[in-house]
Amino acid sequence: MKVRVDRNLCRSVGSCVAIAPGAFQFDAEKKAVLIEPRDADDDALWRAAESCPYHAIILEDEATGEWLYP
Ligand code: SF4
Repeated sequence: MKVRVDRNLCRSVGSCVAIAPGAFQFDAEKKAVLIEPRDADDDALWRAAESCPYHAIILEDEATGEWLYP
């Protein structure tokens, strides 16, 4: 799974950080950024993405590049 965070949409709610702390953290501006290397399975990434009220977390298929969410 490929994951991106749209900084322009992120409003620092933090549910992604709470649900998948191995994948997301806050930067100095309290925007969610990805942790590399990531320590979260696809299920956690899905739950984190679905928890974001601003749809700032974008999921794509690693192999095909297909847009999966939102
Ligand atoms: S849940 Fe969405 S708005 Fe909240 S920190 Fe994560 S990406 Fe940003």
